[in-house]
Amino acid sequence: MPGEKVPMICGIDLGTTNSVIAYIDDHGKAQVIPNTDNERITPSVVLFDGAEAVVGKIAKNSAVTAPESVVQFIKRHMGEDGWTQTLCGKPYTPEMISALILRKLAQDAETVMGRKVGSVVITVPAYFNEIERKATQDAGIIAGLNVLSVLNEPTAAALAYGLDRLGQRKRVLVYDLGGGTLDVTVVQIEGTKIDVLATDGERRLGGIDWDDEVINTVAEKFKTEHQIDPRTDLDAYQDLRTKAEDAKIALSKLEKVRILCQCQGRTIKVELTRSEFERMTKAQLEQTETYLGVVLAKAKLTWKDIDVVLPVGGMTRMPAVREMLRRITGIEPDASVNPDECVAIGAAYYNAVLSMHQAPEATTALWLNGERTAPGALIKDIDAKARGLLQGVEVTNVNSHSLGIIGIRKSDGRMVNDILIPRNTPIPVERTKTYGTATANQVSVQIKVVEGEGEDPEDCVEIGTCVLSELPAGRDAGAKVDVTFRYDADGRLEVSARDRATGKEAKVEIQRKSGMTQAQITDAKAAIGGLDLG
Ligand code: AMP
Repeated sequence: MPGEKVPMICGIDLGTTNSVIAYIDDHGKAQVIPNTDNERITPSVVLFDGAEAVVGKIAKNSAVTAPESVVQFIKRHMGEDGWTQTLCGKPYTPEMISALILRKLAQDAETVMGRKVGSVVITVPAYFNEIERKATQDAGIIAGLNVLSVLNEPTAAALAYGLDRLGQRKRVLVYDLGGGTLDVTVVQIEGTKIDVLATDGERRLGGIDWDDEVINTVAEKFKTEHQIDPRTDLDAYQDLRTKAEDAKIALSKLEKVRILCQCQGRTIKVELTRSEFERMTKAQLEQTETYLGVVLAKAKLTWKDIDVVLPVGGMTRMPAVREMLRRITGIEPDASVNPDECVAIGAAYYNAVLSMHQAPEATTALWLNGERTAPGALIKDIDAKARGLLQGVEVTNVNSHSLGIIGIRKSDGRMVNDILIPRNTPIPVERTKTYGTATANQVSVQIKVVEGEGEDPEDCVEIGTCVLSELPAGRDAGAKVDVTFRYDADGRLEVSARDRATGKEAKVEIQRKSGMTQAQITDAKAAIGGLDLG
């Protein structure tokens, strides 16, 4: 339609505590889009109030007065089988709640920019498994978004850092400490390629744990003085949680803060110095420190091989975190990228890269003729120089968890996880391994596909099954079957099994257990569709 603005290419950092949306401007630069309250960061908190679902700061602040109607930290439950929270009498899955956050980000972006959101790339912690990645993608679909891909957060951060530095070879250590997760990753930028060399992290370690230490210290003092535990009073507890976080943030700038704790009409004032705070959270910081060595060893590197230390996540504004990074790595942590925004910025760039690769000049021309179905058409406005830069970028990812099948070990007859694609393998990748049938006269083979590092199947997550059936009867045990894993850059796994003697083949694209069906997505869409975003 003449005059209609080209839809935006967006990147979304869907965080445990905060979320950010960015888009690619007409010059090919990624920019954060503020929400309708003119804030660049939106708390990932949802308040359910009858027919309304309020997302963001109001929800976070209302958590004090209406804790039973507020959902926070939903990302920690992403992909958790069977997890629901009942709000205003209706059950909500993590995907549905995350979809409300995504919908709010996209709607606000559209209002502020006066343009449609064309496509999105959503980021996930590098430590997320297949189920959690799929749940994140499903959340985007429920929100009505065109999700081109999910991308690891540290890869996104490295892309935001590295785009201006293409052509140089740099090894970047990304230390991402956010509200709820820690990711440590070594990324290599070489020429126009960005590779993840190794990654590890802790999915339940973040700012919330630092806040908890402050809460517990203040609550114990309150108990001593008033014989009441404010943690047992929902309103007082939520209030204390907000104040503890504020105190932590203030201590990144100030040497001393005062925390006012109120519960059931009683009050105390607690003074907290930065050094006291650092002492009480020493164990948490040390826990993050251990991952630095682990990831470096996994990448088979020493600190001399690392050129850049990139702090990501709000928590890296803490002086103690930067000091620890300096002490361990011997490198001054980078200050050129914004730790709160670089993940969304990188995701927007990655979306541009994907759109570019899907957009030969012909599809761009189609847009000019009035068609606008190809995602690549969205990039027509981007400045030619920026287009050249983005076009060259290649992002190589690694799989963060090993993928294997459950088989019977010949030596002891035990069922074990036999790994085909070890973790940290650059993707896309294809691996084939030959197995023998277990019993004589076996006419079908069931291949259980698992994700996990341990040998014991109990320690692994089953992510799908491939069944090769109607094999000839009457054969001895040991008939050869080739199993192939094909893992693409989007994290999709195709498993095929081929009987050597007959050439019979079975193939499945892994249906992750928690991956929602089309019908479930339609239902979830309808359920949240009735909610007004306020
Ligand atoms: P993110 O998940 O990256 O948005 O990080 C959010 C976490 O960073 C929360 O726990 C915040 O309390 C924390 N945070 C944000 N700003 C600061 C700051 N200036 N100093 C310390 N922590 C901060």
